[in-house]
Formats: sequence, C-alpha cells, structure tokens
Amino acid sequence: MQIPSPLQKLDLPLFNQKEIEVWVKRDDLIHDEISGNKWRKLKYNIQKYKEGNYKALLTFGGAYSNHILATAKVGFDFGINTIGIIRGEEHLPLNPTLQKAVALGMELKYVSRSDYREKHTKPFTDKLIKDLGNIYIVPEGGGNIEGVLGCKNIVEEIEQDFDYILTDCGTGATLAGIGLALKKHQKAIGIPVLKGGGFIEKEVYNFYSQIDNATQFLAQIDLKTAYHFGGYAKHKPALLDFMRTFYKQTNIKTDPIYTGKLFYGFMDLVENDYFPNHSKIIVVHTGGLQGIEGFEKRYKLSIYS
Ligand SMILES: *Cc1c(COP(=O)(O)O)cnc(C)c1O
Repeated sequence: MQIPSPLQKLDLPLFNQKEIEVWVKRDDLIHDEISGNKWRKLKYNIQKYKEGNYKALLTFGGAYSNHILATAKVGFDFGINTIGIIRGEEHLPLNPTLQKAVALGMELKYVSRSDYREKHTKPFTDKLIKDLGNIYIVPEGGGNIEGVLGCKNIVEEIEQDFDYILTDCGTGATLAGIGLALKKHQKAIGIPVLKGGGFIEKEVYNFYSQIDNATQFLAQIDLKTAYHFGGYAKHKPALLDFMRTFYKQTNIKTDPIYTGKLFYGFMDLVENDYFPNHSKIIVVHTGGLQGIEGFEKRYKLSIYS
C-alpha cells in the first residue's frame, strides 16, 4: 500500500493562464483494489474491529461498489471475515467487482431495493446481529465517524501550504474528514456525484455534531452541486469525452462515477475564474478506477481504448 499517497503537480496551459497552481493528491495510487478514500475510511474501523471480539465485518453496497471490493480486500489481508449486503438481485455471472470480492473470501447476501433502504435502521441491524452473531457493522461507503477521522489523514499528509482542496462526495464522509484538518485560511470544496447534492451539508453537519468543536469547520466547506451529470452512476457523452481528454493531457485516469465528475467540475470552476490569481489548489483523486471495467461492460463501451 502506498501511504502517504503522492502529491503530483499538474501543469496545464490553462493553469498558467489563470495564474493558479494545482496539485493532485493521488489517493488512486494507494492500492488497485483498496481504492483511495476507501482505505482512509476503513483504517480506524479495522482498528476498532480488532479491539473487539467480532466474528465478521459486515457492510453494504451496490453491485459495483468500490467500498465492497475494498472491504473484501482489507478483510483478506487482515484475516477478517467479511460479509457484503448487496442492493438488488443477484445477477450471474457476477460483475468484475463482485467476482473479485467473492474471490477474496467475502460472503455476499442480496436484499431487495426496498429492504436496502432500511439498512441503517436499528430494526434492520438488530436482525442482522440476531441472525449472524457478533458482527461489526460498517455503514455503506464507510461513512461513519471512524471513516471521517481516517479522511483527516489526507490533509495531514500534505506538507505544503494550499488555499483550496477539492473532493467528490457520495456520503460526505471524505469531505467532512478533510474539513476537520483545515487551517483557518483554507477552504474545502465538495463536488457531489448525486443529484440534489445539497444534502451533503446536513451529512457533514451530522458527522461534526458527534465531534467536539467540529461545527466551526462548516464555514470553511462549500459545495458545488451542478456536476452530477444526471445522478449517481449516470453519465453523459460530455463526461466521457472530458475524461479522455483529461487523460491525454495529464496521463491521469478518472472514473465515470466519482472522479470524472470531480475533475470536470474542477476544470469548469477554473475556466469560470472561481479561484483568485495565485491560488494554490489541491484536488484529491479519491480512486475508484476498479469500477471502470464493470461500467464498460454494463454500457458496452470503452472509455480509454
Ligand atoms: C466512495 C467514493 C467517494 C465518496 O466518498 P464519500 O466519503 O462517501 O463522500 C468518492 N470517490 C470515490 C472514488 C469513491 O470510491
């Protein structure tokens, strides 16, 4: 595992023209399967798991989930039994994400979409514990307070000064963790990949209300909600075109669910002079590249070749 993840300067003509400096925090290079921010979010959960006397670690996700695969791999490496509760029916053959998860020893259980919506309620988790015994439950996407605290490490690893840091948002845990580590003059910008991404503000608030003196950081966090491309896992040709061009220019691959939208949004903000001259900006590449193969098969297209 590559920790700390590299910080890479990006030199594009547009950045010179706008007189800004840009670095990418390459969490995508942490590991192929334990993708980016998913390692950050699992780290302290694994610690807690080890401190208890649990027989398995259980979590939730969609059929293409980066978090499911990351959990399976971490479980394999740390000798932890893992159970994945998957949204919807089983489809055979399994897609590449679930195939790898099973090969790493994860036990999969499928629940209907309506049951899946109840997954974080007490009756649902009580029933899981009654059926499965003493299990450690990590919410979908690793979005609990341990996950948030793990994401603080992203900023703590950065040794140089900066003014802005950007991340994409699913649950908002990564943004919340980044926000916790900011200095007074720094700002974090979240780009939600879901439609109606304003809800992330409430999620971040909920995380912060569990930590002493954390709500003060809310003032340093901003959301740009216009870059969801129709919603979670939705895409448009313009997004894929952007990802291809960006790859040609930078040699950095992005994924269509998360980081493609992040970098699209970032470049759009640059073009529209959102960042003042001389800004120092860090974009966190949160990973997610494992999902490309499944996405390509599902939509019968090829992103990069
Ligand atoms: C899960 C994931 C996210 C979302 O992170 P949250 O902490 O849930 O907001 C962002 N990017 C990638 C690549 C992910 O896999």
